[in-house]
Amino acid sequence: MKVLVTGGAGFIGSHFILALLKERSDVSVINVDQLTYAAKLEHLQAVENDDRYQFVRADVTDQRKMIQLVTEQHVDAIVHFAAESHVDRSIAHTSPFIRTNVQGTDALLQAALSGDVKRFIQVSTDEVYGTLTREDEALFTERSPLQPNNPYAASKASADLLVRAYHQTYGLPVCITRCSNNYGPHQHEEKLIPTLIKKAMNNEPLPLYGDGQNIRDWLYVEDHVQGILKVLEYGKPGEVYNIGGYNELTNQTIAEKIVEAFQLPISQIHYVEDRKGHDRRYAIQADKIERELGWKATTDFDRAFQHTIDWYVGVNR
Ligand code: NAD
Repeated sequence: MKVLVTGGAGFIGSHFILALLKERSDVSVINVDQLTYAAKLEHLQAVENDDRYQFVRADVTDQRKMIQLVTEQHVDAIVHFAAESHVDRSIAHTSPFIRTNVQGTDALLQAALSGDVKRFIQVSTDEVYGTLTREDEALFTERSPLQPNNPYAASKASADLLVRAYHQTYGLPVCITRCSNNYGPHQHEEKLIPTLIKKAMNNEPLPLYGDGQNIRDWLYVEDHVQGILKVLEYGKPGEVYNIGGYNELTNQTIAEKIVEAFQLPISQIHYVEDRKGHDRRYAIQADKIERELGWKATTDFDRAFQHTIDWYVGVNR
């Protein structure tokens, strides 16, 4: 099987390629990445000399190039990670998000149509469902309405709708995965956990938006990757699968764990002006993928969180 992975030099995509090549000897990978500020090819050093791995620097919005790659290289499956992924950046400038996340997805869908692609996996986010406001509110399911509240989430929801439409209209065998917040090594330092770790390492104040009570469901990146592998292999065309960790924590709890790990005083945490339109709580029901595809998050949070801290300390030493 030849798999075209987009955004493979980013956080989750790099873990996905490493796992795919490690676990499947019959698979080869084409990693298509534009190498934006968020990319680091070093994450893929372990496979760069593997005959089954090929890197192509390209922009996913370049439809002609995507069609050429998919048809000439006889791609069997596309796993689409490439995106502008930082909410704060989307609030400052929306257009790169519309371009890469919406137009880029459309270009890849067109490429999938022109080839003989047997599976198109759209890696999406729980942010497309919008926010939960109370602690006792029911978790989002795959049937919850799409109510994105920030430009990043809106661009991902738009892409998801295009993916669905290509299935309904052309019968393209697509699956959409919607995961919760990932943590682990390789994440760009603009994101919450790497930012807080870096600040703690430098003995600087740890900034938290608003009152710090925003809740996210934290999923270890390697658990997420295993979920995507299940969908790639067994997912039913046209279906959406939530991938969550049932591990809801406030941002303040995350900051407290980091302060504790670095033996800093709690006063090191500083509350800063809230993000515009900051969603209060994300939490998803992930029983469909558990029931139908036999996937479950298995990683122990405290152990993986410590491993994540150790990794950032190691690379920043
Ligand atoms: P990331 O920002 O770490 O990596 C994105 C990668 O895409 C980078 O390597 C970048 O160079 C590449 N890229 C960006 N624009 C491109 C373009 N036009 N053409 C080709 N490559 C381009 O992102 P991530 O955190 O690994 O997220 C991967 C996917 O998972 C995204 O689609 C994101 O929406 C989704 N997701 C992430 C999380 C999370 O917690 N990180 C949660 C839910 C969903």
